[in-house]
Amino acid sequence: MRLSQGFWQTYKETPNDAEIPSHQLMMRAGLIHKTAGGLYTYLPMAFRSIKKIEKIVREELDRIGCYEVQMSVITPAELWKETGRWEAMGPQMLRIKDRAERELCVSPTNEETVTDVFRKTINSYKQLPVCLYQINTKFRDEIRPRFGLLRGREFTMKDAYSLHMDKDCLNVFYEKMYGAYVAIFKRMGLDFIVVEADGGAMAAGGAKTHEFQLVADIGEDTLVTVPATGYAANIEKAPTQRPGLKPQAASELTKFSTPNQKTCEEVAAAHGLDITHTLKALVMQVVRGEKTHYYMVMLLGDDQLNEIKFKNAMAADHARPAQAHELEKLGLIKGFMGPTVEAQGLSVVYDLTVDMNSSYVVGANVAEHHLKGFVPSRDTKGNVKSLDLRLAKEGDVMNGQPIVMKKGIEVGHVFQLGDKYTKSMGATVLNAQGKAITPLMGCYGIGTTRTLAAAIEQNHDQDGIIWPAAIAPYDVYFGVIAKAEETKKVAEEIYQMFLSAGIEVLYDDRGMGPGGMFKDADLMGLPCRVVLGERDFAASGEIEIKVRKTGETLKVQKNALVATLKEKLQSLGKWA
Ligand code: ATP
Ligand code: MG
Repeated sequence: MRLSQGFWQTYKETPNDAEIPSHQLMMRAGLIHKTAGGLYTYLPMAFRSIKKIEKIVREELDRIGCYEVQMSVITPAELWKETGRWEAMGPQMLRIKDRAERELCVSPTNEETVTDVFRKTINSYKQLPVCLYQINTKFRDEIRPRFGLLRGREFTMKDAYSLHMDKDCLNVFYEKMYGAYVAIFKRMGLDFIVVEADGGAMAAGGAKTHEFQLVADIGEDTLVTVPATGYAANIEKAPTQRPGLKPQAASELTKFSTPNQKTCEEVAAAHGLDITHTLKALVMQVVRGEKTHYYMVMLLGDDQLNEIKFKNAMAADHARPAQAHELEKLGLIKGFMGPTVEAQGLSVVYDLTVDMNSSYVVGANVAEHHLKGFVPSRDTKGNVKSLDLRLAKEGDVMNGQPIVMKKGIEVGHVFQLGDKYTKSMGATVLNAQGKAITPLMGCYGIGTTRTLAAAIEQNHDQDGIIWPAAIAPYDVYFGVIAKAEETKKVAEEIYQMFLSAGIEVLYDDRGMGPGGMFKDADLMGLPCRVVLGERDFAASGEIEIKVRKTGETLKVQKNALVATLKEKLQSLGKWA
């Protein structure tokens, strides 16, 4: 593309709402246009890159035998009502009505639509396994759309759905898809890790789920890795342990005064206690179907509750911290709550880290008082339940090995759904014996527009973007610094040479001075910059190539230009 005729422009100012480098750079480099909060127009440069990302995704999915389809973006409420997700999706689902007052939504995901396709088109085991995918628009009315394309409201996702007769077949295909994802992100030249993810209640049945995460400081996900073993999981699920805890000998249970000391930190500080010898109490409301129950969760004084682990362990539909009026109803006094409470509809559970035979300080359920010498196994009435409920943190270990925590951006997710959708939507398939069985599903997502933003987040410097070559909008930024017609003619020849050699080139023929041109070239960050400078060329016939990533520069003669560039682009992963 010739910039003199082009639509592209760069900006000096960074918009106020762009908080992170990728968002700032995408705005400044003229990649995207903000239409409204969380809604973006992909301008030509971004769109070229998105198409390259999509091409890699398509090639790898086609390679493992998936079929590409396109489902309707608007879907009817009836389908969602069959699975209960019309309610469960909550306000993130954008609901609309047509002129006949029929309820519809803008799809946030498409399990219901695809299960409807499956149940109406697949009757026999002979048609399985099968996997359909699409690259299509999704809408989620996110509470906090931010970071540009990283968390938009409208975004593009590749979503794939597979159907299987049995668990073995699902497992085999899951591994294939996992392999395809590894190939996809490798080809894109991204630095990613695969982590075990939270599978919700389904994971209890052994359903696997993994997330593909790009490591980046601004990532919204926290990842727990164990370098010694290669283990990696989202913090939502990581079962780590605390090293070096010292038990306290049991002593008599006694009440003591703790005026205004409402937190474990305050009690520990005021009485010279080790905080790990205190227990904090958190009350959670749990909803299962029509029923509501309350749980007091006991954790070491400096630990936090992992609400996702808790929700799964409780097989809850919803779980949330109890509110002030609920605590009051249960007869609890905030700041002084403890496990000796007896209230209708309230049970006590302990985090696994709490040593049931050690002695702790706990709330006394009396204002301004705590108890010391509380031994869970001795002083709790009835069954004592211990579950892994705490949030992993720095300093933890896993099987004795230290953990390292990282921040990540989730770009892909593979998930074994089991029979969740096929069962609730009544999809059946005849097996070899002619018996109708409920098939199993897997679903597999990649946020293609999020991947673009995440790639920039991972690959930039103070001057601009540093495109991974496989997904760069163009291969080469070709700039000309020339006054003489003769040099301009040479530039034109070089441009044509690039085109016929299949090198994708952004030709800066705007006649700008070197300062502005180099700034734009660095901001745009294409893998290679080629500059035809009149003086150098006249003196020695040399043309300069600069590699954006390494800063390496070399001078070559015109006839060596294409070959040298191809070599550079090859080594940068353009044809990975
Ligand atoms: P998150 O936890 O980041 O909200 P999610 O787990 O809800 O994402 P999935 O339902 O697993 O997302 O969707 C599959 C993929 O779609 C994600 O891995 C991500 O790449 C992409 N995605 C999800 N939400 C957004 C969004 N708001 N903007 C851009 N991409 C998104
Ligand atoms: Mg996910």
